Amino acid sequence: MPDFFSTDIKFLKGVGAERAKTLTKEIGVANFRDLLYYFPFRHVDRSRFYSISELQGEDLPALQIKGRFINFSEEGEGARKRLKGIFSDGHKFIETVWFSKINYFSKQYKPGVDYVIFGKPNLYRNVYSISHPEIELYNPEKPPTGFRGVYNLTEQMRKKGLTVLLLRKLMEEALHHPGFQTIMETLPGEILSRYHLMPIQEALMQMHFPESAEKLQKAIERFKFEELFYVELNILRFSLERSAKTRGYPFPVIGEKFNKFYYEGLPFQLTNAQKRVLKEIRRDMKTGRQMNRLLQGDVGSGKTMVAFMTALMAVDNGFQAALMAPTEILASQHFETISKWAETCGISVRLLTGSSRTAERRIIHQELKDGRLDILIGTHALLEDVVQFKKLGVAIIDEQHRFGVAQRARLWKGGEVAPHVLVMTATPIPRTLAMTVYGDLDVSVIDELPPGRTPVTTLVRYDSSRLEVDRLIFNQLKEGRQVYIVYPLIEENEKLDLKSLEEGYKRTCETFPSFRVCFVHGKMKPEEKDYQMSLFASGEANILVATTVIEVGVNVPNATVMVIENAERFGLSQLHQLRGRVGRGADKSYCVLMGKATSGAETKKRLAIMAETTDGFLISEADMKMRGPGDMEGTMQSGLPFNLRLANLAKDGQIISIARRAALNVLAGSPQLLSSGASASPNENFDNPVALKAEELFMVRNELKLRFSHVVDWSLIS
Ligand code: ADP
Ligand code: MG
Repeated sequence: MPDFFSTDIKFLKGVGAERAKTLTKEIGVANFRDLLYYFPFRHVDRSRFYSISELQGEDLPALQIKGRFINFSEEGEGARKRLKGIFSDGHKFIETVWFSKINYFSKQYKPGVDYVIFGKPNLYRNVYSISHPEIELYNPEKPPTGFRGVYNLTEQMRKKGLTVLLLRKLMEEALHHPGFQTIMETLPGEILSRYHLMPIQEALMQMHFPESAEKLQKAIERFKFEELFYVELNILRFSLERSAKTRGYPFPVIGEKFNKFYYEGLPFQLTNAQKRVLKEIRRDMKTGRQMNRLLQGDVGSGKTMVAFMTALMAVDNGFQAALMAPTEILASQHFETISKWAETCGISVRLLTGSSRTAERRIIHQELKDGRLDILIGTHALLEDVVQFKKLGVAIIDEQHRFGVAQRARLWKGGEVAPHVLVMTATPIPRTLAMTVYGDLDVSVIDELPPGRTPVTTLVRYDSSRLEVDRLIFNQLKEGRQVYIVYPLIEENEKLDLKSLEEGYKRTCETFPSFRVCFVHGKMKPEEKDYQMSLFASGEANILVATTVIEVGVNVPNATVMVIENAERFGLSQLHQLRGRVGRGADKSYCVLMGKATSGAETKKRLAIMAETTDGFLISEADMKMRGPGDMEGTMQSGLPFNLRLANLAKDGQIISIARRAALNVLAGSPQLLSSGASASPNENFDNPVALKAEELFMVRNELKLRFSHVVDWSLIS
């Protein structure tokens, strides 16, 4: 006898072979468990009856009314044919309308019988009507009550009569099946009680037939928690295993060059955040295990310095370092910055990009091979097969989202020991999310900007204020400052975008005739683009009119104004990145968001958030909340090794951190939990953890303490 959960769905009363086939094919429901985990996508409140005279206004929720049909009539011709029913609650009338299966519905309901109709009333020419209402016979013994689930149906299901009503009936059937009481709790008991989670049986009941909004919430929370708990458990175990296994070069010393630079070469004092991150990196690199670290830091937080000092650690231990950037401009900026720093401590740095000359390449290849070259900076060109390091100790990758994991791996082309990897990004992903998504990476955060920055003043302006904006630009230009004017990426509507960009360029040239304007867009040849960018970077051009190609990383401290045209078309995080291009020097800087006066309230609210805060993490959170699973999450979600039914990585940050804590707790402290609770997991993606031996557990625990001391308050757990 299979257990309750794995019983074939065809054996559920009311299903049978035919319906079972449809359920399996259409929504993947093959057994009792699948059915009960087919959660409603929303719930409707059936605890109250409305009278028609109460209905007011346009935007009514779905609601229920008790009454009788007065008559039915067919209206319209051909494709526009519809069935209209007049329904009365004894005082007033409402219309019900069917656009399909007219023959069926006209025979289905009889005048003079008590029904409960349910649906969303729409106001049309002063009359309310409900199209395709849910209809039940009114049973005075058992009036509809409470909340009910509404389930996603496919076209095929509808055709075969598998309606929401039927699904509800099936759910009821399964929930009242005697076997239901035998299902096992799928979370460890200790965790249930510690985090006050709803037990499985009750949670399943409440998901389908909630007694109240609060109970429904508790049930949803429980299932979200469960999903995230097992995901976290998996990730933690995986990363523990990885860190125990993957050999890396041990860098035991902090050597001469690092110290010389630290004491004599540093052009400024490191921020505390930079120091902390360097310590984390140092700790990783001396262990003899491979470092795999994600370094997050807002634009301008000083990641380049961290990259350089990380490279120094490798060089001091007799190794080479590579720094890879997504564009030529960025690579050459890094090169300039870093060569200057490198002079102090006498190490060699070279730049390799697509446009490096053959002679230069030859030298680089040679010096790399014989070990004379210490740091190589470049673009994708670093990944070419001819580029062979003698001893690559650390690979540093700037702006990770442009490089995939596979590309990362190509840097060391199957050497026996993988170099340490530091991935740097300005994309401010909430920490818990980062740890979940980049399960194979540790995360460091620079959460502090270097001192002495004047925050950028952000203004939201509309076309009516053009002149004011022009004046602002002019005043800054007069002071010798530089200005960015950015247009949306040339994309879906290529022609139109290019037109507005070119017009903007023309207009700018005409408005500021005594200043030099350069021009960059994504469809340009790379050489042309680089030439135009270099005009701006060197200060020869005063104004740069561009599409978002400048989004990533350029550093022109003399630029003090960033005007963003059609700002409503950018995501918040993107606006934030763009704004980060100014305010890099000590001078007061401005970011002007040019919006459409006609945009909706939502858009205006988004722009207002930008004006309110410069905190990248707050912005990214607001962005994700407002857009829901937007681009950023989309790309991250695509690489995920697991599916989430209810939990949303972007929105459930709090549950994620609790789940993570719980998973850590289980791994670190409670061997009995490892073997019992987890093995009953309904999450097929979770490979059951085996019980660890005592000494292994001891190791795990110490390891975890080391690695997660910043997340977990261990005194609470041990
Ligand atoms: P990002 O993190 O965006 O890559 P950068 O490394 O380009 O930031 O640094 C931005 C600017 O801040 C650079 O001009 C850099 O020299 C400067 N900077 C970095 N760290 C400090 C610091 N601790 N104190 C003062 N200025 C700093
Ligand atoms: Mg940078």
